[in-house]
Amino acid sequence: MKKLIKGIMDFRKTRQPLVRETFARLALGQFPDALFIACSDSRVAANVFASTDPGDLFVIRNVGNIMPPHPDTGSAVAGLEFAIHTLKVRHIIVCGHSDCGAMRALAQNGNDFKESPLDRWLRHAKAATDHGVADQDTLSKINVALQLSNLRTHPAVKDMEKSGDLTLHGLWFDIRKADVYYLENPPIGYVLIDDTEGEKILHRLKD
Ligand SMILES: [Zn+2]
Repeated sequence: MKKLIKGIMDFRKTRQPLVRETFARLALGQFPDALFIACSDSRVAANVFASTDPGDLFVIRNVGNIMPPHPDTGSAVAGLEFAIHTLKVRHIIVCGHSDCGAMRALAQNGNDFKESPLDRWLRHAKAATDHGVADQDTLSKINVALQLSNLRTHPAVKDMEKSGDLTLHGLWFDIRKADVYYLENPPIGYVLIDDTEGEKILHRLKD
């Protein structure tokens, strides 16, 4: 917490003057083109590994980068509704990561789910274990594909994807190497987003 307060003080002194104009513009409204669904893990910092700026992403973070399937009405689904209907985002990204504590808990739980809030929440990712994979990083990669499937159970997402108004993407962040992977072939066909693969992905994107 001390680092946070000192950071705010430091920001006022050094960076606030540089970004004041940006924030003054953003104060008039937000127009992010993507909803970014990531894990709450403190190391998953999209502003660092994807060079994003304020205003770029509408973010939902929770334990295990989970989107409950339809007809759930919890906070993640409320955020989804706001992103697609009010902000009219064109892309939804689910981002998993290595060494994910939620996936570790999922792997350890097996079918032994208790009634704790965390266990109840992780049920939305339980189907990722159906592939019989025990290692948590592979489980995390499968979970990204599973959450994309969960997203598609929401009628609005399904319709907008079909009409071409919405595109879904899966990312996976390797913390140790600081590398980011793109899900090409679900559930575990990922490619490293380097110059070559990044250009291919960019070429496919309409906007
Ligand atoms: Zn995590």
